[in-house]
Order: sequence, then C-alpha cells, then structure tokens
Amino acid sequence: MLEVTGLAKSFGTKAAVGGLSFRVAAREVVGLVGANGAGKTTTLLAVAGILRADAGQVRIAGHDLATEPIEAKRRLGFVPDEPALFDYLTVEEHLRFIGRLYGARDIEQRIPALLVDLELGDRRTSLPDELSRGMRQKLALGCAFIHDPKVLLLDEPLTGLDPVGIRRMKDGIRTRAADGAAVLLSSHLLAVVSELCSRVIVLGHGKALAEGSPSEIAARGPTLGGTLEDAVLDLLT
Ligand code: ATP
Repeated sequence: MLEVTGLAKSFGTKAAVGGLSFRVAAREVVGLVGANGAGKTTTLLAVAGILRADAGQVRIAGHDLATEPIEAKRRLGFVPDEPALFDYLTVEEHLRFIGRLYGARDIEQRIPALLVDLELGDRRTSLPDELSRGMRQKLALGCAFIHDPKVLLLDEPLTGLDPVGIRRMKDGIRTRAADGAAVLLSSHLLAVVSELCSRVIVLGHGKALAEGSPSEIAARGPTLGGTLEDAVLDLLT
C-alpha cells in the first residue's frame, strides 16, 4: 500500500506539485495522467525519495519515507523515464547486483525466468550500450521487479517498447498487481491507462483535477458515451 498525504514540491517559485494526496492499495494499478509539465515525474521522484519534497508524507507498505527511509525504499521498485544503467555491468549482472542490494531471495533461481519474461534471454551478457532503447527499458523494469517490491512506481513504462514488449509489460504489471503490489504509473497513452488502471488521477499544474475509475472519468466528459481521452482532453484544455 502506498499513502501520499499533502505532497508539495516547488522549484524556485514554481509549484510543480501542490499538496497532492492519494492512496494506492495492494493489487491496484493507478495511472497518473496530465499534460507535459503537470507534475507526474516530480510526484514519482518525490514518492521514490529521489527528490526531497517540501511538505507532505509518503508511506510505503506502512513505512514512513522520511523517518524509515531504508525500510520504505526496500519495499519500493522505481523505473524512471530515463533509466540509468551501469555502463560496465551486463544485463545479468545488473539483475544480480540490484537483487543483492535489496536483499532479494532466490536471485539465481529468479534471474533466468525474469530474463525470459523480459525477452532478454539471449542478451544476458550484453552491456547497456549494446542494447536498443527498448531493451534498456526492459532491463530497467527487470531491476525494479527483481526484489518483488510491495510498491511499484513506473514513469512512462511502455515508451520505447515494441508491440510484443508492450503486451508482455502490460501482462507483467497486471501479474505483479495480482500478486499483491500497489502500482502507480504515469503515461500519456490513455488507451493503455484505460485498459490497465483501476483508477486514474488527472493532474493539472501539480493538483488532482479528477480522480476515479477510467469509466467514471469518461462519464464526466463532454460527450455522452465518450472515452477517457475525451474527458482528459476536456479537463486539460
Ligand atoms: P512530462 O509529461 O513532460 O514528462 P511531467 O508531468 O512529468 O511532464 P514534471 O517533469 O514533473 O512534469 O515537471 C513539473 C514542473 O516542474 C514543470 O513546470 C517543470 O518545468 C518543473 N521542473 C521539473 N523538474 C525541475 C527541475 N529539476 N528544476 C526546475 N524545474 C523543474
């Protein structure tokens, strides 16, 4: 379970996130959507503890990020929009290294299955600069999944993946949620958000403009029987 209360972050005089509160329960996939600059990445970075928030509280699986940072972060998996990988570690070494850092169990048993899941089985000995963008994205997702986190934060997780990769990734996110993870993802792909997320938070200038299931938000849109995209466009324009 992820609980965020009154999260605020400014850059200079510009409020990127302005007092945001929400929860993501175990087994739930929640989507953050909004225009460029709406505050999605800032929210995810602050929830991950990479950016220090100016105000607010973040609890990850019951652990307060400010007062119990190690316990909180141990239960967290985060994939940033620009994944940072280690230049001199192979695909397999990344998974082993990150798994050990997090104290994951059964790493050696889990790595082969994860590599197959990510379609990186034949790339286990490749270095990051020998991988395509989509493959690097898949490796970053593998690093976030290796320790079975209770809370998964995914910033634009499907960008750069091929159609097979997108399908597998959607299935992977669903499976992780079904296994008990609370998943918060940001995406501009509203059709995917509709399909994957049980709840959506529409952000505008760092504040929640709307929150509800994709069908609830769609129903508040300008046209009867309209889509989530119609409703989000109406909120953002
Ligand atoms: P996008 O869809 O384009 O990825 P976003 O919703 O993720 O956008 P953020 O990256 O969170 O938006 O940015 C929110 C606001 O904070 C923007 O106005 C942005 O210019 C500003 N911002 C983000 N990071 C910084 C930074 N390091 N320094 C100054 N301003 C920043």
